[in-house]
Amino acid sequence: MYYNRKIALHTLGCKLNFSETSAIGRILMEQGFQKVDFSDRADYYIINTCSVTENADKETKQVVKTALRTNPAAKVIVVGCYAQLKPEAISSIKGVSMVLGANEKFKIHEYIEQLEEQEKPLVVSGNIDDVSFYADAYSHGERTRSFLKVQDGCDYFCSFCTIPLARGKSRSNSIARTVEVANKVAATGVKEVVLTGVNIGDYGKTADGNNRTNENLFSLIRELEKISNIERWRISSIEPNLLTDEIIEFVAHSYKFVPHFHIPLQSGSDKILKLMRRKYLSKLYRERVEKIKATMPHACIGVDVIVGFPGETKEQFLETYNFINELDIAYLHVFTYSERANTRAVKMKETVPLAERKERNKMLRILSEKKKRKFYSEHVNTTRHVLFEAENDNGMMYGFTDNYIKVAIPYNETLVNTLQPVALTEISDFGYMKGTMHMEFSMA
Ligand code: SF4
Repeated sequence: MYYNRKIALHTLGCKLNFSETSAIGRILMEQGFQKVDFSDRADYYIINTCSVTENADKETKQVVKTALRTNPAAKVIVVGCYAQLKPEAISSIKGVSMVLGANEKFKIHEYIEQLEEQEKPLVVSGNIDDVSFYADAYSHGERTRSFLKVQDGCDYFCSFCTIPLARGKSRSNSIARTVEVANKVAATGVKEVVLTGVNIGDYGKTADGNNRTNENLFSLIRELEKISNIERWRISSIEPNLLTDEIIEFVAHSYKFVPHFHIPLQSGSDKILKLMRRKYLSKLYRERVEKIKATMPHACIGVDVIVGFPGETKEQFLETYNFINELDIAYLHVFTYSERANTRAVKMKETVPLAERKERNKMLRILSEKKKRKFYSEHVNTTRHVLFEAENDNGMMYGFTDNYIKVAIPYNETLVNTLQPVALTEISDFGYMKGTMHMEFSMA
């Protein structure tokens, strides 16, 4: 047991990484380690990296430096997607003591003791084809919401993406085991749980790549809804081809699954979608959005889009722009295409100049603001339930409605982590919705 040894953890990247960092923290605390803030003096700094960000290398180096500035004698351990893809490169970063791959990160307690005698950095990174599924991954304590991992990996191999190489094949636990973990989350007192994974619509595969009998995302969400003490469930990102009518209709009639969908589009041009090796064309995407809005007019739909994919002409970009402009969606997450080693896209010759990629990104960000404002304005003078967060920001507190509108009211400690009906009054200059606790408007 490691009583009095201190660990500090830092996450780069997505919700899935957040859930896994929390899991690593819990594994170590069970061994007697004490968890402290990353800005505090610790004996071990653990950095959970991401390979999606353009500057994974630079960001990792920066975080290593920050850690060692606080305690130059500390051991720095790097895990996560970037660690799986580039273990040797990371081990050569000055100050890194250990690098653990996708499977090994959850056995960190077994490797940590080897560090004491180790002079050179220890690199343990197995074959990505042999990964198992670590179930107990959920975030807790950092936010009002908890991110619960229900699925990992991806079998799709889109031509721009390295995630299948970093996280392995699509896999998940049984519904019974997932419900068991969700009950642990419920016991922590959080009110909202966000389902997370790499491709959660593909839920239902075993670690051997087989389909579980009668288990898919639809059957999972029906079981999760029965768990008491969790008041809200959010399906995070889901591929359009896996977002079935039955899931949409279930959410429309659910008291707990909220009307918020984040659906990757990536491009509105069918030619580019084919080059990206996506599993749908723009027509299917449009149908999904129309189906959601016909069943839930108040639903919030977020869209991922990539600009500057190799071969994307100005006309094809405008096709994407116009396609999104016509869709009834609420916001965009815009990504600028960047080359990734070992992908099909990196071999494509017709690259888009960087300045042009940036320009396209800017245009879509402006469109995103316009879409968000329109969506928010449709909700002024309605009342929706808001889950309030703990932060006191100069006398204001924030929370999100079920359909993902950010709302601000004057700070009131008793409202933290509670769901309250709030009248939405006007959009502030900072882009959030102002609210009042008076019940002067009818429920939307
Ligand atoms: S669906 Fe495509 S973009 Fe998403 S993780 Fe899988 S390969 Fe990557």
